[in-house]
Amino acid sequence: MTTQTISGIREHMIIGGQPVDQSQGERIPVYNPATGQVIAQQPEAGTQGVDLAVKAAHQALTESEWATMLPAQRERLLLKLADLLEANADEMAQLETANNGKLLSISYGLEVYSGAQWLRYMAGWATKVSGDVLNVSIPFPPKTGYHAYTRLEPVGVVAAIVPWNFPLLMAIWKMAPALAAGCTVVLKPAEETPLTAIRLAELALEAGIPAGVFNVITGRGESTGAALTAHPLVNKISFTGSTEVGHIIAAQAAKDMKRVALELGGKSPVLIFDDCDVEQAIQGAANAIFFNQGQVCTAGSRIYVQSGIYDEVVNGIAALADQMVLGDGFDEKTQIAPLISARQKERVEKYIAIGQKEGRQLTTNTERPEQGFFVRPTVFADVDIGARIAQEEIFGPVLVANRFEQETQAIELANQTPFGLGASVWTNDVNRIHRLVPAIQAGTVWVNTHNMLDPHMPFGGFKQSGVGREHGKASVEAYLEPKSVCIAYSK
Ligand code: NAD
Repeated sequence: MTTQTISGIREHMIIGGQPVDQSQGERIPVYNPATGQVIAQQPEAGTQGVDLAVKAAHQALTESEWATMLPAQRERLLLKLADLLEANADEMAQLETANNGKLLSISYGLEVYSGAQWLRYMAGWATKVSGDVLNVSIPFPPKTGYHAYTRLEPVGVVAAIVPWNFPLLMAIWKMAPALAAGCTVVLKPAEETPLTAIRLAELALEAGIPAGVFNVITGRGESTGAALTAHPLVNKISFTGSTEVGHIIAAQAAKDMKRVALELGGKSPVLIFDDCDVEQAIQGAANAIFFNQGQVCTAGSRIYVQSGIYDEVVNGIAALADQMVLGDGFDEKTQIAPLISARQKERVEKYIAIGQKEGRQLTTNTERPEQGFFVRPTVFADVDIGARIAQEEIFGPVLVANRFEQETQAIELANQTPFGLGASVWTNDVNRIHRLVPAIQAGTVWVNTHNMLDPHMPFGGFKQSGVGREHGKASVEAYLEPKSVCIAYSK
């Protein structure tokens, strides 16, 4: 597929229901990672664009039909958006692969159809969340005669900032619960991957979501992103990205007393016990790290294997890695697509060079396409827990492995990083599962699987992996502000 045949590319933002094409400074080139070609030039919103978008969101929140819309109508609009997303599945999936580089099958499955699944799930909550009636009284001297209840009000204007690894899905993870709760949103996609988010905003308008309710602005993090989080009319910041930027955002939120949710980085462990189905564990662990080129916040980037099966497992994963076919995400034969950018490729290659000093490289294949941002899946064995490649998030197809003897040692290794996003345990011992699950410091623990996500399951991090949870009822509640009401009545 050539760039000429990709439809849906828009080189503008969507603010207040309108295409807005003004750039503060130079435009930002957007690349096809498989070819390194520029496929679009996006505006840098800057402080002016941010102000326009936040004011549009604020106006929609306070003055438009959105402010008084029935929850059932919000539900209907989100359901309509899910239908439109599926109706445009081909265009959206192709656009995502052209912009992010990922396998087309992942663009269909995890961006478009999962996106629609999340929209439908969140739509349902619009009519389900409600406050409580409270039984209140004064204990001394005893007094009753009060009627108290809680109202759940939309938190207000939400600044949603997302990364480039799942551009469409991450946009939906933020906007769907926020809109279900009655909020309005200004979304800033990553500068590398703005294209599907802009189309999503157009589809939202087509679905009948009023102008200004869901705005998408483009621009760099340190300029446009920072201006958005600092804007005084923003009530809540919902951020997904690196732990490093998470710290900056948390500081800004604390300064302004804005509500904040942070979904950050990970270094998720995969613990493989000798009573597991070894073949299934080898496949599962390879998938856990190499899926989406390892550009997954919950990538199983560290594996710890019980001594008796250690060589079999790590050599098995390395053999799979060496057989993997690298290529364009549009090519059906491709198993490993390019990384997102030249910068990310350089970063991952730097870690591979560090790994060659810190571990024993098992993978030997060096074949890769000449153009594009490709890195071969790489496995390092015998890596100490203190090594940089065992502690720092690489965000690429690089696996570090080591062995353990006892269960307690596996738990210690699993918990010995600053992160706590995901973990998986591979065993057929039910007692072991129940000992391990509470001992592992992670927001999600998978057993005999990895990276299985569903809108019902709360998702988020322990420790430096974040604050708050997305998905489930809690994610809609996170966009609601409870207000207590207490009425004294005469007897
Ligand atoms: P990043 O932190 O560099 O950027 C993420 C977003 O923040 C981008 O839109 C960027 O423009 C913006 N940004 C950067 N600096 C900013 C600032 N000072 N103020 C406001 N916004 C700013 O991360 P990335 O490299 O795009 O994405 C990879 C990271 O995202 C990894 O660490 C990964 O683990 C994490 N991630 C986490 C989850 C999760 O749910 N926990 C999911 C996906 C990705």
